[in-house]
Amino acid sequence: MTDLDTITHFINGAKVDTASGRHADVFNPAVGAPCARVALGTKEDVDSAVAAASAAFPSWAATPPLSRARVLFKYLQLCQEHTDEFAAMLTREHGKTFADAKGEVARGIEIVEFAVGIPQLLKGEFTDQIARGIDAWSMRQPLGVVAGITPFNFPVMVPMWMFPVAIACGNTFILKPSERDPSASLLHAKLLKDAGLPDGVFNVIQGDKVTVDALLDHPEVQAISFVGSTPIAEYIYSRGSAAGKRVQALGGAKNHMVVMPDADMDMAVDALVGAAYGSAGERCMAISVVVAVGDAGDKLASAMAARTAALKIGDGMAHDSEMGPVVTAAAKMRIEKLIGEGVEQGATLLVDGRGCQVAGRENGFFVGGTLFDHVTPDMTIYKEEIFGPVLCILRSPDIASAVNLINANEYGNGVAIFTRDGGTAREFVRQIQVGMVGVNVPLPVPMAFNSFGGWKRSMFGDHHAYGPEGVRFYTRHKAVMQRWPNTASAGAEFSFPQMK
Ligand code: NAD
Repeated sequence: MTDLDTITHFINGAKVDTASGRHADVFNPAVGAPCARVALGTKEDVDSAVAAASAAFPSWAATPPLSRARVLFKYLQLCQEHTDEFAAMLTREHGKTFADAKGEVARGIEIVEFAVGIPQLLKGEFTDQIARGIDAWSMRQPLGVVAGITPFNFPVMVPMWMFPVAIACGNTFILKPSERDPSASLLHAKLLKDAGLPDGVFNVIQGDKVTVDALLDHPEVQAISFVGSTPIAEYIYSRGSAAGKRVQALGGAKNHMVVMPDADMDMAVDALVGAAYGSAGERCMAISVVVAVGDAGDKLASAMAARTAALKIGDGMAHDSEMGPVVTAAAKMRIEKLIGEGVEQGATLLVDGRGCQVAGRENGFFVGGTLFDHVTPDMTIYKEEIFGPVLCILRSPDIASAVNLINANEYGNGVAIFTRDGGTAREFVRQIQVGMVGVNVPLPVPMAFNSFGGWKRSMFGDHHAYGPEGVRFYTRHKAVMQRWPNTASAGAEFSFPQMK
């Protein structure tokens, strides 16, 4: 037993601990010590969350969309008022800087701002008189109980890609957050309840593979939204869709940034420092590979080496920290091992972040900014998603070989090109096999009213997250044809109905 706070489930409007007796430590990665413990749920816990969500569904689905939107309006206001509380939780359990955490909350709130437009978003189409005396229309209806399984790296924002849209559409929701930083899930639950959301509409199940598998197999769960690493995304997609569910599973990434010789080099370097090392590289849209074309390479490598070595690394709550720790001791070990493999396989290590020490935080899970040059596609540091503050520079003779390199990569989440040439940029946008593209924009994360998703092994399933695709994912389309018996019947017809 421990005297740390226990982060519980939230089922049918109340916090409940698991009967399993299984718990895991939640760490403050800057301190390197546990700050709470989280319940690890069972199949029975999932069954009771699904039962609560199923019971709440008929009444919530029948609630007019405008009334549902009004609950979300209130929740939106509460999220704004509690931004600092959310951000402090993020910094404590994830490690990202407080300013970065506030940015994460703001991007999550934008999805709620989108979801409150649900009466407009759910409008169907109507066609008068498709045949004499017959009209046709379409409508979108909620699916029922839906679930979201989310990663550690955006514990506020990624769940908000899912549940505001799902709930606005009339579904009831079960969130299974990452067990590494689960506190924010309970603050979401409290604020939704305070905003007037009926009990059972939003539930949280804490846990690991046991609860995930129970959600995937449960016959009453209609759809699964997943965000996390590629092997787990593929597993979720296969098992969930085999069980007859609708599944969107967003996976890992290896995001490239092409720097052309004509690029504004100061702009490119500023963009790169933030995109590679912000949030210690633990963003699915982080740039982890730069493809320097032609003579851009030497200028870029020397400017980036100076900037990387000067990064201010520390506790995310310290005002001057630019980069906090990575999430766990295991993540630090894995990243440092991969850096070692980069050296062994012949890459040039310009800045080495291994063995990083922060005064007063000697046990923290810190990895310094790391920069490799002359990386080649066969090296492990190029092939694997490192998910840490490690940036690889590859050299490419021309734009065509840069495009071929990126298109051959197994991932296709985000990509950027920095150039002053409109024609080069336009052709790049057209040719590149990646879901989200930035032109002189390093992290092209779509806004709430667009949709987010990668290509290739960065996404399994069809509909992307949030925006119009989110509304489509969380609803079923129904087509209706209607005739009223106000004209004399022409008698039974046995041939296929046709326009007359
Ligand atoms: P992860 O795949 O380890 O975990 C994600 C979720 O799956 C967690 O809730 C976890 O409890 C659960 N899970 C883990 N192992 C499982 C298993 N064997 N069976 C069933 N469930 C399991 O990912 P993570 O380490 O939390 O997050 C980092 C990864 O997420 C990176 O690969 C990153 O690129 C990716 N990510 C992708 C996007 C995107 O939009 N494509 C966004 C954020 C993060």
